[in-house]
Amino acid sequence: MLELFSVILGALIGSFLNVCICRLPREESIVTPGSHCPQCKNPIRFYDNIPVLSYVLLRGKCRHCGKPISMQYPVVEGVTALSSWVLFTTYGPSLSYLFFFAFVAALIVITVIDLQHQIIPDVISIPGMGVGLLGSLILSHLSFLNSLGGLVLGGGSLFLVATIYQWLFKREGMGGGDVKLLGMIGAFLGWKAVILTILLSSLIGSLIGILVMVLKGKDFKYAIPFGPFLSLGAVLTLFYGEAIIRWYLYSHRGF
Ligand SMILES: [Zn+2]
Repeated sequence: MLELFSVILGALIGSFLNVCICRLPREESIVTPGSHCPQCKNPIRFYDNIPVLSYVLLRGKCRHCGKPISMQYPVVEGVTALSSWVLFTTYGPSLSYLFFFAFVAALIVITVIDLQHQIIPDVISIPGMGVGLLGSLILSHLSFLNSLGGLVLGGGSLFLVATIYQWLFKREGMGGGDVKLLGMIGAFLGWKAVILTILLSSLIGSLIGILVMVLKGKDFKYAIPFGPFLSLGAVLTLFYGEAIIRWYLYSHRGF
């Protein structure tokens, strides 16, 4: 019963994340006005605003103007509902669940905004660092020093890479947004997780990059932002980090 509640809560939060995704890059209020169709500006009635379900019932079209509704809405709602459920089954009804759900929700918003606009809003990543540090004081998943170390290592390492890259190639390779994002990830997950997140996101980013280059013949560095890979690496680290490290140590026994 509680599990069902976590799915419904996740879908509702996902609906709110969609509002953040649309309005944060334009620096609009995320509270007022109420939801409206981006095409015809008509307000969306509460019965047309049920996560995922309304999209299916309306067959992906606005009730007023009939223009297609972006797939972003049901996808974000679905992914957020799934994340909420997975975290709830892991942590149960606890503060840890809320803490990590807030973390994953922030990563979802960052991923979609970075894909659409190639920016990572400071209004998420900077308060996120504070929430991560605070969590280490309240919860027992990390020591405060580990969380602070994660922030410094995460932000510092990418800052160093970005500076060296800029110095070598005289152009910006990685944005300040990525630096702050990895700082936030470090504050939530600790310094060891930063290393694993960098490894996983570089690995996945390279694979996708090669795939895009082969399929489209593009220089992917300019086609794909890095934020979504950092976010994906962080989520994999959160869920499977310990299993990956254990597997690594096991398979390298005796070396
Ligand atoms: Zn409309």
